[in-house]
Amino acid sequence: MSGPTAILSALAPEQQGLIEQLEGPQQVQRAGRTFWQGRLRGHPVVLALSRIGKVAAATTTTALIEAFGVQRVVFTGVAGGLGPAVQIGDLVVADAFVQHDMDASPLFPRFEVPLYDQHRFPCDAALTQQLAQACQASLGAAGRTPRLHQGLILSGDQFVSTTQEATRIQSAVRGAGLEPLAVEMEGAAVAQVCHDYGIAFAAVRTISDRADEASAQDFQHFVTHVASHYARAVVGALMPLLPAG
Ligand code: SAH
Repeated sequence: MSGPTAILSALAPEQQGLIEQLEGPQQVQRAGRTFWQGRLRGHPVVLALSRIGKVAAATTTTALIEAFGVQRVVFTGVAGGLGPAVQIGDLVVADAFVQHDMDASPLFPRFEVPLYDQHRFPCDAALTQQLAQACQASLGAAGRTPRLHQGLILSGDQFVSTTQEATRIQSAVRGAGLEPLAVEMEGAAVAQVCHDYGIAFAAVRTISDRADEASAQDFQHFVTHVASHYARAVVGALMPLLPAG
């Protein structure tokens, strides 16, 4: 399908490298946000910062679809690692998202989004495969050889910063038969909006911390030194894989 691709970044340093590469950049203000229209490697894109938290990210995504007519949404950001094998510097490509703080029980099963009849919002299989391929090609862009994982990412309006909290979330989600790899604050909201509009969605998160007591410190260091390199490399590698716009 033709039409621009939205590239959502979680944080300004990650977006900066993309803005610098944008061909024919045009800045548009909407909903208190700045959107950048242009081309990356010839492919029409709209760049935006998701903003932080589920509601903010949902607003940004809705604006991208309604006002800019994007045909697919790709998210790059950072997240806390949860799975034992998911270490700082690794990449996690999402195959689905769950809101770990959604709880309308006993009216609805724990984690289920009311009236959707589902707790898990899957990503688009084809776009996810292209993103995973772009990630694979970019491993090492940050100077070491990290691992690429693919699986479930959790979102909630909470920066998870203690092992106790990370363990609590992990066990609750496992109780519903789900095995999470990472936790962040936006992806499930973007996935839900894309689901509503029938727009393809894929997401990758670089692991900035282990959602533990060191997370705030690890996070800051990581965003500045590593995440921005990945965002640039992965998006650059993804562009030629997308359908022509
Ligand atoms: N210092 C930042 C705030 C970042 S909030 C600023 O001033 O802009 C943390 C961001 O990183 C969120 O967007 C979230 O999606 C992600 N994240 C990274 N580690 C996380 C963790 N341990 N728990 C929850 N979200 C995390």
